[in-house]
Amino acid sequence: MPVNILFAAKSESWDAYRAPLGQALAAAGVDADLRTDFAPEAVDYIVYAPSSTVQDFTPYTRLKAVLNLWAGVEDVVGNDTLRVPLTRMVDHGLTQGMVEWVAGHVLRHHLGIDAQLFGQDGVWRKTVPPLAQDRGVVVLGLGELGLAAARALAGLGFDVTGWSRSPKTEDAIRTLHGPEGLDAALARAEIAVLLLPDTAATRNILNAQTLARMPRGAVIVNPGRGTLIDDDALLAALDSGQIGHATLDVFRTEPLPPEHPFWAHPKVTVTPHIASETRTETAAQVIAENVRRGEAGEPFLHLVDRDLGY
Ligand code: NAP
Repeated sequence: MPVNILFAAKSESWDAYRAPLGQALAAAGVDADLRTDFAPEAVDYIVYAPSSTVQDFTPYTRLKAVLNLWAGVEDVVGNDTLRVPLTRMVDHGLTQGMVEWVAGHVLRHHLGIDAQLFGQDGVWRKTVPPLAQDRGVVVLGLGELGLAAARALAGLGFDVTGWSRSPKTEDAIRTLHGPEGLDAALARAEIAVLLLPDTAATRNILNAQTLARMPRGAVIVNPGRGTLIDDDALLAALDSGQIGHATLDVFRTEPLPPEHPFWAHPKVTVTPHIASETRTETAAQVIAENVRRGEAGEPFLHLVDRDLGY
């Protein structure tokens, strides 16, 4: 009997995923019936995204797992009706895209590229940027994405400090962890990259108090989640000069409303949640592998810890 897989990831295109998922499932040796509609009691696995129409899992009585197509799970992790394992997306394409976006935006600020792009007024201002080794970059969050970004930045020569919940040891990256390590990390952050998940423990982690711990004129690059930053505190810090610039890819409300002060602020760059996307080909292989594992009784990859919220 085929494994019934409901594609309930409303924001993702069924047209884009249908063929790669079918092929990946076949390649994994899974006999699957993959559809966008099923009687709930017939469904074995749900391929999910935050805006899914499925919000009540109670009728899915034989469900074995929910396989999220996104890295972030904040919209589903606290759902009380979900009683089966939840996995999230760890995908080579997603990681590589994030590394490239982070490297680009860090280099923009490190090299002062804006001054050349927007400051061509006939005056020969020769300001040579420091070498990367003399630029303190801090990556908050050393998970799949943060660690890959931190390693790439260290590879470019930056003086990289990473901060996570649990202790880590990494060549070429200074590592700090836990609430007690945060101030020391922020003190080194001429440029701070936020790659933390949205959880109760990370919400508003950059607030008036923590922003004040950063070197004056520090730059914030946030491709993590909008909730990591207290917006009003950031605006005040930008206006006072404590923070020099914020490049923001994620927001509390998305799309960012046209009247939000971030749009017009001269020290804010808004990018529309494009830092990185799940790539259909590689993501399909991750989903297929997890279905194969579920059917073989093997542990799922990239399981979410429901207590930690990520
Ligand atoms: P991940 O592998 O789960 O890593 C999360 C990292 O955050 C881990 O290093 C974890 O510490 C750390 N962390 C969690 N809670 C913490 C706390 N209270 N204090 C200190 N560190 C804490 O996640 P990921 O795959 O790297 O993704 C990170 C986030 O990026 C996602 O949750 C999502 O919000 C965002 N994202 C954005 C885009 C975009 O396009 N903008 C795309 C994909 C993902 P431990 O290592 O100790 O567990």
